[in-house]
Amino acid sequence: MSTTTDPNLRSFIEYDTDSHFPIQNLPFGVFEEQGKCRIGVRIGDYVLDMALLEERDIFKPLSLPKLFGTSTLNPFFSEGRRVWSEVRKTVSRLLSYDEPELRDDIELRNRALLPVSQVIMQMPVAIGDYTDFYSSKEHATNVGIMFRGKENALMPNWLHLPVAYHGRSSSIVVSTTPIRRPSGQMLPPDQDTPVFAPCKLLDFELEMGFFIGPGSKLGAPVPINTAAEHIFGMVLVNDWSARDIQKWEYQPLGPFNGKNFATSISPWVVPLEALEPFRCQGPEQSPTPLPYLQTTGKQTYDINLEIYLEKSCISRSNFKYLYWNICQQLAHHTVTGCNINPGDMMASGTISGPTPDSYGSLLELCWKGTREIQLKNGEIRKFLQDGDTVAMTGWCQGNGYRIGFGEVIGKILPA
Ligand code: CA
Repeated sequence: MSTTTDPNLRSFIEYDTDSHFPIQNLPFGVFEEQGKCRIGVRIGDYVLDMALLEERDIFKPLSLPKLFGTSTLNPFFSEGRRVWSEVRKTVSRLLSYDEPELRDDIELRNRALLPVSQVIMQMPVAIGDYTDFYSSKEHATNVGIMFRGKENALMPNWLHLPVAYHGRSSSIVVSTTPIRRPSGQMLPPDQDTPVFAPCKLLDFELEMGFFIGPGSKLGAPVPINTAAEHIFGMVLVNDWSARDIQKWEYQPLGPFNGKNFATSISPWVVPLEALEPFRCQGPEQSPTPLPYLQTTGKQTYDINLEIYLEKSCISRSNFKYLYWNICQQLAHHTVTGCNINPGDMMASGTISGPTPDSYGSLLELCWKGTREIQLKNGEIRKFLQDGDTVAMTGWCQGNGYRIGFGEVIGKILPA
């Protein structure tokens, strides 16, 4: 086990055992304080100001270019694994219980550790390209049954390649950004001409996304055995979806307006390095994928996921249910020679589990509007109403600690 993930590590910063942000996590984000954006690392309920530490030459022994006094993580991501690891080691040491350098420097401590309530979290990354996969077999099967029947639920290609489409990066927003109900073209049931109207079947999708570190050259596929070197870490993703718009527009080229109006992400990017102790085996893949997609061993992560609608927990899923792992997704994405750039985001697709209480969208939880969800406040839902707040959370459960992702939250505004 690497030193930074040791469960016995302790920080001089205090936090509860169910905190998402113990010293073993150390996720990166971008925060604004007094009108200035810069990069921070989360620890308990504090944000460590990385720009200030950089100004004070704390990272000088690493001989790095200036990376943290900026409003995106892209320059840091592009540095690659060796730098990520060295910076992480330095931060872990600075925050540890028995290291006096920051602990006993009251002036530096007061300036470098800001209560999270005093900062505003920003979009952490300038996302050039966004790709959305469709890697949950349970989700693809459920949607297939609803729209094509049980016999043709999975398309013939699905078990052979990680299906995806190129998404829209301009409308990716950070958690707590309100979501405006989209209007668009749709075909009302039992009619044969379309109408333009506010979406009536507004939905969420429980997903996770990963960020690209060092890019690749056009024409040079990323081989599966080095794919992980191009991935910095992960966030929670809510890929908002307008089901009525999607249903009318999606054939033959896939979703467009039904998906492009908003995608929300959680503000703290958790490094893959912090997730190492939570590696696990993914589902068995049969038929065996083609050689360029073959992986062995523990290639995914055990990450508990929950969805809350108006503060009622309506689903519990897990990242480990995904059929295709992130290295397979990246290898497939680039196998044609398609290049990737630092800060690109790839999302998993809706993460549905095997049981009806683990589905990752209202489309599935309410089975195309044929069932209702009962909320704690006595109300019922089939799709989202104006004013509804959706919160998703995720964490890895260690022995006495958690590696968490915080939350991705969004509230629906009227059209
Ligand atoms: Ca999606």
